[in-house]
Parts: sequence; structure tokens; C-alpha cells
Amino acid sequence: MNHPISRRELMVGAGATAVTLGLASVAGTASAAEIKAAGVAGECRLPPLPYAYDALEPFIDKETLTLHHEKHHAGYVKGFNEALDALAMARGAGDYSMIKHWSRELAFHGSGHVLHSLYWTNMAPKGGPGPDENLLKAINQSFGDLDRFKSQFEAATGAVEGSGWGVLVFEPYRGYLLILQAEKHQDLTIWGVIPLLVCDVWEHAYYLKYQNGRKKYVESFMDMINWAEVGKRYAHAANMMRK
Ligand code: MN
Repeated sequence: MNHPISRRELMVGAGATAVTLGLASVAGTASAAEIKAAGVAGECRLPPLPYAYDALEPFIDKETLTLHHEKHHAGYVKGFNEALDALAMARGAGDYSMIKHWSRELAFHGSGHVLHSLYWTNMAPKGGPGPDENLLKAINQSFGDLDRFKSQFEAATGAVEGSGWGVLVFEPYRGYLLILQAEKHQDLTIWGVIPLLVCDVWEHAYYLKYQNGRKKYVESFMDMINWAEVGKRYAHAANMMRK
């Protein structure tokens, strides 16, 4: 698969950019060595468009496509890198006082980067041929036929309230395709991520024993993790990325 976001871009090693961006005030005074030891930082790059800026004329004009790619998508890449850097600084300094802010920034800009990277490659100058045999089979099973898929996708995407996206997804638990609306593309997640470890913090998960002591419950949870299972999920996810 010719995916625009390489494994390296999404799963890079620690970079030195956190130091040069002057974010020290954000997360205390982590040294360069501490940041380097603190895992992934921002090294994401704007992927080039797979065609010329005027290649989609007259459907999308050159000026719109240029601004969209060079300003809007580039802004998401910059914001994603800043959030990754700030989080590396926070881990280096052990200072999580801004964790809500940077988690939101990470999700907002990360989702913007992933969705725009998909959007560019979802279009081709002449549209290209229809779905291949496998995809058509999945569309038929999920929606009835291609025309019904198209009318639902058009209706759902046209009806997104405010800014957002129409999104065709593969839902891996049942194995069917679904059409979703993304009104707020961030909503504290990044499209396409694969969950490896989750901790339920709805009150029903802990209230009888811990009452309002969510912190204590989460601390106890950390000692209960089935790392072998998490490791299996990671191996599976990393293997999918390599394909
Ligand atoms: Mn956009």
C-alpha cells in the first residue's frame, strides 16, 4: 500500500527539535539528554501531494489546493510536532501539569495530519477506475450495492454539521464497512490509531470501592496490566504497519 504517512513519520525516535523550539517553559527544564531518553518527539513532515496543484482542475482549483496543502495541512503537521515535542519535554521533566492541553493538541493536530494525508491520496486527477473486486464485495455486503453506498456517503457527508469529514471506515470487530461523520475530527483521538491498552474511568468501573478516588483506582490499575496481552496487540499492530 502506498500510504503517505510512513512508519518512520508516525513512529520516529526521539528528536532534538524539542530543544530548539524553545518549549522549555512548557514542561519545566528537561535537559536535551532527558528529552532524548523520553521517547518520540516531533519529526513529522508534510507529505508531498501525489499530483500537481492544478491536477484536479476544474473540480478543485489550483489556489484552493495550494492553500489547503501548504497552509492548512502544514499547520497540522507543525502543531502535531509541537505537541509531540512538548510531551517529550514533559516526560523528560516528569512535569504533567499541562497534560490536558497537550493531549488535546496532540489529538487535534494528529487527526488533521492523518485525515489530510488520506484525503490527498483518496483523489486522483481523473478519478481512476471503480473499486476492485475485494472492495466491491465488501461494499456490497455492507451497503447493498455501490449506488446505495454512494447515496449514503453523499447524504452523510453533505449533512455534517459545521466543519468536518465524511469517512468510510472498516470496523474490525465485525468486519464490515461503515460511513461515519466526524464533526470534531479530534475528539481526543487520532483517526486510524489501534488501541493497545485501555483503562475504563467511567464511574461504574470503580465507584463502589474507590468512590471519587479515581487517581487511586488508576494507580492500582497500573499494577494489574496484562503486559503479555498488550505485547501481542502491539506485535499485531506493528505488523499491519509494515504491510
Ligand atoms: Mn482541510
